[in-house]
Amino acid sequence: MSSSSSFQQQNGPASAQLSGVVTPVVCYTKCMRNHALAVGKHAVDGCGEFMASSPDPTAALTCAACGCHRSYHLREIIYEFSVLPPPPAVIDGQSPMNSAKTEN
Ligand SMILES: [Zn+2]
Repeated sequence: MSSSSSFQQQNGPASAQLSGVVTPVVCYTKCMRNHALAVGKHAVDGCGEFMASSPDPTAALTCAACGCHRSYHLREIIYEFSVLPPPPAVIDGQSPMNSAKTEN
């Protein structure tokens, strides 16, 4: 009798529109190290983005631009949305592996 409830979404909002994965990416931006702490003032070096000084994990925590540790930089998390490619359509008779198929 009442079939009007079929329009309701069961998976919640924004879940059935695009198929993809959301990957959180951590990046370090502005350096907040106070270089004037010894004199009681506040002065940052102006570095706007952390860049690893070396691919070596032990040295990668030092910024190549300002030389500060990575912990001085603001930590931001960016969510990258990657759309998954559609599944390959299998059409009977057009598969290149059709000649290898045996039918009994
Ligand atoms: Zn710095």
